[in-house]
Amino acid sequence: TLAGKTAVITGSNSGIGLGIARELARAGADVVLNSFTDREEDHALAAALGEEFGVAARYIKADMSKGDECRALIEQAGACDILVNNAGIQHVAPIDEFPVEKWDAIIAINLSSAFHTTAAALPMMRAAGWGRIVNISSAHGLTASPFKAAYIAAKHGVVGLTKTTALETAEEPITANAICPGYVLTPLVEAQIPDQMKAHNMDRDTVVREVMLERQPSRQFATVEQIGGTTVFLCSPAADQITGTTISVDGGWTAL
Ligand code: NAD
Repeated sequence: TLAGKTAVITGSNSGIGLGIARELARAGADVVLNSFTDREEDHALAAALGEEFGVAARYIKADMSKGDECRALIEQAGACDILVNNAGIQHVAPIDEFPVEKWDAIIAINLSSAFHTTAAALPMMRAAGWGRIVNISSAHGLTASPFKAAYIAAKHGVVGLTKTTALETAEEPITANAICPGYVLTPLVEAQIPDQMKAHNMDRDTVVREVMLERQPSRQFATVEQIGGTTVFLCSPAADQITGTTISVDGGWTAL
């Protein structure tokens, strides 16, 4: 059980981040939800989650594209035993047409934010004598596809940051690992479907089966519960000696 531990999950008002927050709360952890939106429903989501699982749950606004806000999120949380770096965005375009501001935003949100939160959280984990860092990379942190240059560069970077964090904490009761999901059906993936339909001139079902799940041999999307469950495993005693590595949850993608 994770009772008494506080988990901070970046980008957790939807999709995988929310799924991870739910599984950590189910395992007994207090949770801090985050996004940049600060809407009433974000706070209501945290309250409902806390009630459902009988844990303390809060929402803290912070824009993960800004380093000082990443660090302020951890400071405001007050405790951070489990840090899940999940916030991420995507943009699909060929390199020579890739908008520079999209490149900068993706590197900031998908990669640099994890550097800032990790830097802020490590002193707290050391003071507490225990810590778990789970970085949400991607199958695209281990392999590439065309038209996703910034995302793939950032997700490979996350794997490198994870390894370095693990080496710097290797002799301490702190671990750092990356989860590499294949396709998980979330708003982020949903938003790519129209672009992929246009790029490949296919209908929705065909593009999902032939293009999106073409590299996922199981031909099934992974679920947010499965990513959450993998996160809980990485926080369990069975995973105490698992550090500096990646766990793929990708239906066989990286076996191809
Ligand atoms: P999503 O769009 O449903 O969720 C993204 C989350 O990030 C949201 O909570 C959003 O509020 C938050 N976010 C975006 N910009 C932010 C910012 N500037 N500051 C703070 N929060 C911000 O997407 P998702 O599919 O749940 O993706 C979550 C993570 O999982 C991402 O890092 C993504 O790259 C990764 N991932 C997703 C898949 C997939 O198939 N869905 C596969 C591999 C990896």
